[in-house]
Amino acid sequence: MRVKMWGVRGSIPSPGPRTVRYGGNTTCIEVRSDEDRLIILDAGTGIFPLAQSLLARLPVEANIFITHTHWDHIQGLPFFVPLHIPGNVVRIHGAFDLITQQGVEHVMNVQLQYSYFPIREAELKAAVEYLTLTVGEPVRVGDATVTPILMNHPVTNLGYRIECNGKALFFTGDHEPWRNIYAPEDPPWAEYQALIEQRQADLDAAIGPVDLLIVDAAYTVAEYPQKIGWGHGTFDTGLELARRTGARRLLCTHHEPTRSDDELERVFAEALARHPDPGCEVMLAYEGLEITL
Ligand SMILES: [Zn+2]
Ligand SMILES: [Zn+2]
Repeated sequence: MRVKMWGVRGSIPSPGPRTVRYGGNTTCIEVRSDEDRLIILDAGTGIFPLAQSLLARLPVEANIFITHTHWDHIQGLPFFVPLHIPGNVVRIHGAFDLITQQGVEHVMNVQLQYSYFPIREAELKAAVEYLTLTVGEPVRVGDATVTPILMNHPVTNLGYRIECNGKALFFTGDHEPWRNIYAPEDPPWAEYQALIEQRQADLDAAIGPVDLLIVDAAYTVAEYPQKIGWGHGTFDTGLELARRTGARRLLCTHHEPTRSDDELERVFAEALARHPDPGCEVMLAYEGLEITL
C-alpha cells in the first residue's frame, strides 16, 4: 500500500507563511492498494490538489470514505473535479447520520444546494454511488479491505482500518479518548471507569497492530483541559494508543489551525521528550508526505 497526505490541518484551512512547511489544507489522505485501487480518506480541502493530480490519468474510479460530516472533512467534496467529468466512478462511503436519520447521500445533497454551489447533485457528470456503512462490517475495494470502526466525537465518526496483502493502516479521523466525567470521590466513578476502560480495550482490539497508525493529535496536554469534549486527542494520547496497539509507525495529524510550523515542531518535541521510548517511529504529518507499507 502507498499513502500520501494531502491535508493535515484540523478545523479550518490555514494557508500562509506560518504553515507553509506542514500545510494548511484540511484532512485528506490518498491510499493506493497494491493493485492501485484508489481509496480517499476524507474530503477536506486537501482533496482539491489530489483531484488535480488525478486528471492526468482519466477515467478515475475513486472510493471516498468520509470519517464524519464536520466541514473540515467534507468541504472539498464539491471540488473533487472527477465528479464533474463523464466516465468517472466515485463511490462515497460514510456513516448513517443519527441527527437527520439519513444515509451518507445526505452530505452531498446538502452541500450541492444552489444557495451554496452552482452545480446541483443531479448535474454531476460522473457515476456517483453512495454507500452507508455498518460499523465493523468490512468493505472490499479490489485487493484492499476497509473496516469502519466507531470512534468518540460529537457526531458519529468512523475510523478506518485498511488491509492489503498483509499490511494494515488505521486512521482515527477525529477522536477524543473517553474520560471519566466523575471525580474519583463520586460514587459512580468506579462503575464509569470500568465502562470506559472496556470501551478503550474494545477499540484497541479493533484497531489492532498496524504498520501505520494515523491519529488526531490536535492538542497538547497543556491545552487539553480547555478543549474537553471538543472531540480531539493530544500527541500524548496518540503515543499511548500506538504503544497499546503495537503500531509500527505513528503519524500525528489534524494539526491545530492556529499553530505555526515552528510551534508545531516545538510542542511535538516536548511530547516526545515525555515519551523517550515510544516503541515505534513517530512523525508529524505534512502535505505531500508519502509512505509505502
Ligand atoms: Zn476535524
Ligand atoms: Zn470533527
